[in-house]
Amino acid sequence: MSTLHVAITGRDKRHLAALGPKLRVVVVGYREEKHRFVVDAYVHADKVAWLKRQGYGVARLEEVDAHDRARQAEGHAAATRRLKKGRYGDVIWGGGYLTADEVEQAMVLGEQNHGAYFERIALPNVTWERRRCHAFRIGKGNGRSRPAVCFIGGVHGREWGGPDILIYFAVRLLRAYRDREGFRLGKKRVSPALVRRLVETMDIVVLPQVNPDGRAFSMDRHPFWRKNRRPAPRGQGFRSIGVDLNRNFPFLWRFDRHFAQGTVESTHKPGDYETYVGPRPASEPETRNVMWLLDRFPNIRYYVDLHSYGETILHSWGSDDDQSKDPRMNFRNTTYDGKRGRILDDVYSEYIPATDKNDAVQMGRHMAAAIRLVRGREYEVKQSVGLYPTAGASDDYAYSRHWVDPKKGRLIAFTIEWGRSHASTPFHPPYPEMRKVMREVSAGLLALCLRALAKRTTGSKA
Ligand SMILES: [Zn+2]
Repeated sequence: MSTLHVAITGRDKRHLAALGPKLRVVVVGYREEKHRFVVDAYVHADKVAWLKRQGYGVARLEEVDAHDRARQAEGHAAATRRLKKGRYGDVIWGGGYLTADEVEQAMVLGEQNHGAYFERIALPNVTWERRRCHAFRIGKGNGRSRPAVCFIGGVHGREWGGPDILIYFAVRLLRAYRDREGFRLGKKRVSPALVRRLVETMDIVVLPQVNPDGRAFSMDRHPFWRKNRRPAPRGQGFRSIGVDLNRNFPFLWRFDRHFAQGTVESTHKPGDYETYVGPRPASEPETRNVMWLLDRFPNIRYYVDLHSYGETILHSWGSDDDQSKDPRMNFRNTTYDGKRGRILDDVYSEYIPATDKNDAVQMGRHMAAAIRLVRGREYEVKQSVGLYPTAGASDDYAYSRHWVDPKKGRLIAFTIEWGRSHASTPFHPPYPEMRKVMREVSAGLLALCLRALAKRTTGSKA
C-alpha cells in the first residue's frame, strides 16, 4: 500500500488534532492560515477518500515510496564512490549521506586526527542488531566547572540528516581549531579566538547516531522506517518489530494513565508502524545510552535532539501547554492523572518556571538568528506540544530529570526539526539540499555553544 505525503486542510483545530491519535495518520506539523489550518501529514492512499468524505481538503504533495527509493539508490551510489576513493566516513568530501557504519568510522577518524581534544566514548548498551555505539566529547582538558552542551541525533531511522549534521559540525570545529583558524557558514562567522575558547573551556558532548539499526534499515530496506529494531514479541510477525525510541523515555511513559483518553498518539501495540512505546520505560538499549550519557556529564546545561522536519526549534514542554503560576500542577502530581494532554483547556498545564522558559525562548531565538544568516531560512521557535502532546520523548525527559532528582544537572532542552517541508522526501532530502541544511543547523548549534559559554563567564544563571 502506498503512502502519500499530503496537506490536509480543515477549519477545526481540535478535529484536525484528533486525526493523529485516532486514525494513525502521521502528523508532522501544522500551520494556521486565514480561517483554516493546514496539516502536513503522511497517510495511506486508502484513507484519502475517507478524509475527503469527512470534509477535509487533501492536497497530494508527493508519492512517498518512489521518491524514497530514489534517495536510497543515490545513497548507495555515493557510498560506493567514497569506498573506492578511500573516503570512507568522510562527511566533508561527502557526496551522500553517511551509512550507519560510516558514522561510527567518522568518530574513529576524529580520534586519529584530533586526539588531544577529541574523546571517543563507548556507550554501554549494544543495539538489538549488536551494533556498538559511540558518543564523543570535543574539549581540550577537563574540569568539573566547565559548562557542557549535549547534542544527539539519529533517534529516528528515516531522518538521515541528523548524524550527518552532527559529524559535519564537529569536523568543521575540529579542523578550525587544529589550523588555528576561524570559519564561515554563509554570513555567520566564527573567529579563531572564539574557536579556541570553545574547545579549551567547554565540553561539547555529541551522540550523533542513537539508532544505527533503524538508520541502516531505512537506508537499505524500508526508507520510511522510524523505530529501532527490537525483535517482534513471540508469535508476532515482522510488522511488530521495533520501538519508537522517542516515546520510550521515562517521562509520563504510561500515557494511558497520565493523559486524558485519546489525546496522545502513542500506543502499546508493537504492530504500530510509528509510535509503539515499548514494553517498559527505558526498555531499549538506545534509550539507555542517551540516559547514561546525561548521567556521565552532569555539567550539561543545554541539550538538543535533532529530528526532521519542519524548520522549528521546540522547547519544553511537549506534554501539555506551559504555565508558570502553579508549581504543584506538574508531571509528578498524580492528582492530574487522566487529565493531561488536552491543549487549550484550563484543567491541566505543565509547570515551567518563568526563568527557564525565558532562557529557552531566548536561546531558541539566538539559534534561529544564526540559522537565518546562513541562507535565510526562518526556523520558528515554539513550545514543543504542537497539535497534540507527546509522552516519553527525549527532550522532556532531559529537562525533567532535575525535577525528579535534584542531584541531576539542570538543563534546558530543545528539539530541532531541521529541513523544509517542501523539499522532496523531507525526512531525507536530496543531498545537495541536505548540505545546506547541515550548514545552517551547524550555525545554530555553534550559536548555542557560544551563548552557553558567554552566560557562564558573565556569571548569569545557566
Ligand atoms: Zn524524529
